[in-house]
Amino acid sequence: MENICPKCGSSNTVKSGIINDKQRFHCKNCGYYFTVRKLGKQIDDYYVTKALQLYLEGLSYREIERILGVSHVTISSWIKKYNITRPPHSEFHPVYKILKQNELTEYISKEENLTNAGLIITQFADKYMLIKWERFKR
Ligand SMILES: [Zn+2]
Repeated sequence: MENICPKCGSSNTVKSGIINDKQRFHCKNCGYYFTVRKLGKQIDDYYVTKALQLYLEGLSYREIERILGVSHVTISSWIKKYNITRPPHSEFHPVYKILKQNELTEYISKEENLTNAGLIITQFADKYMLIKWERFKR
């Protein structure tokens, strides 16, 4: 993993302590000090956001676990931590598809797939997840 100096663009940087939970680096080219968030932390933030988003879309903890690879216990703790209460989804359940890029392109090229579908698309690794609310279909 390279840590590029934000001031001069050099990759000639060395670790120089940790400040406020962030790794600090020292640029040997221009002498600038800078910090970056730890990669693990960034991944956590990403999964927290996605988990909360999917939860609000109406997916169960187990479904989110299957999609994100994060345990339902962890997801449950995030929902509590951020105090997320979702509105009742009593009449319907969201439908989701996991698609490759070419499948996604083909899918969204058809207008009938987009109309009144309440569509959201999220990237996961090399695939895309598409959530639809069938309720909107008439
Ligand atoms: Zn520099």
